[in-house]
Amino acid sequence: MSTIAEIDTTHEEFTILRRDIHAHPELAFQENRTSDVVAERLASYGIEVHRGLGKTGVVGVLRGSKTAAGGKPRSIGVRADMDALPMPEHNRFAHASRHEGRMHGCGHDGHTAMLLGAAKYLAKHRDFDGIVNFIFQPAEEGGNAGAKAMMKDGLFEKFPCDEIYGIHNMPGFPVGHFAFRKGPTMASSNRFDIIVRGTGGHAAQPHKAVDTIVIAAELVGALQTLISRHKNPIDVAVVSVTQIHAGDAYNVLPGEAVIKGTVRTFSTEVLDEIESNMRRMAEMLPQAHGGSGELKFHRAYPPLVNWDAQTEFAMKVAQDTFGAENVDGNTPQHGGAEDFSFYLQEVPGSYLFMGNGEGAHREEKYIGMGPCELHNPNYDFNDALLPIGSTYWVKLVGAFFAR
Ligand SMILES: [Zn+2]
Ligand SMILES: [Zn+2]
Repeated sequence: MSTIAEIDTTHEEFTILRRDIHAHPELAFQENRTSDVVAERLASYGIEVHRGLGKTGVVGVLRGSKTAAGGKPRSIGVRADMDALPMPEHNRFAHASRHEGRMHGCGHDGHTAMLLGAAKYLAKHRDFDGIVNFIFQPAEEGGNAGAKAMMKDGLFEKFPCDEIYGIHNMPGFPVGHFAFRKGPTMASSNRFDIIVRGTGGHAAQPHKAVDTIVIAAELVGALQTLISRHKNPIDVAVVSVTQIHAGDAYNVLPGEAVIKGTVRTFSTEVLDEIESNMRRMAEMLPQAHGGSGELKFHRAYPPLVNWDAQTEFAMKVAQDTFGAENVDGNTPQHGGAEDFSFYLQEVPGSYLFMGNGEGAHREEKYIGMGPCELHNPNYDFNDALLPIGSTYWVKLVGAFFAR
């Protein structure tokens, strides 16, 4: 079995829509035009529209025609993200970004179009017993946590979901290929600032100063022992220093140095351990030199942990629809972070990947030198995925209510 024939007939319609969204990228919590488009489309399908969750989020509620009156109906949440990235686009095709410094470089334009395609079909047929909540989320990128913002505005209280699912396109995986993983699948993303304080002084008289630059340099090396010496080697984690700021002159030892960076882990336990070891190191290593240190640690997104039963279910739908040969049930962990993780902390569900191909869908004369990778200025969502993704959503919803 493959794509639904009726969905194939809407391929052009949703390609035009996807390219329109691509041409008008909007950043976190500013998805005003995009959410207007989503809301108008949902309403035109006869779906009940709710706006304003997480500022620009939209929820479409569709009640199946077989839903029994009274009692609590079963419900499923299906989610797409709507935001673009603050980056330039190098593509020159007709649907390239019309806004300098903004780009749909992660394919959220495609995720939105795919889910609208499914919404159109499901609203027309409605042949199920229960409620589908179409969740169009703002601000997935850059640690802005649009998912959390929608939850804070009562997403699951107003629109209860027994289970929730999300899809991300994945360049490099073949088109029509689906990838799943149970358990920890994407990393937590966290930021840290270490402020090293000493007494500044004359560069020619270091014995009269506490040199924060020497301390900071030592700390950068020491921080790597959080990974190599202070953590169980079988646990995966990354500590990267990405900024060092200190000093303004050739002959002055600065009184303060600041180190910034990121920590990635696949479990909260490992993260707790790294944070507490980092705090000890950040405070005590400067003290050993007569200075002082302070750690500010910010947890942006928790690790994304897929639920076992829901992942098996979502995988079976892909196998039954597109063939087992197109389904990888044990895709490697991904070091990126994703705020779908917040939903999965409260509601059982799964987050899966769909192949976006190698980039051959882009017309060569209109693209730059770079690869078709996520967050690359030459990326473009592959429109061949639209009927595949919409079909998958429809089949997933159907199978959920048929259980
Ligand atoms: Zn992204
Ligand atoms: Zn993304």
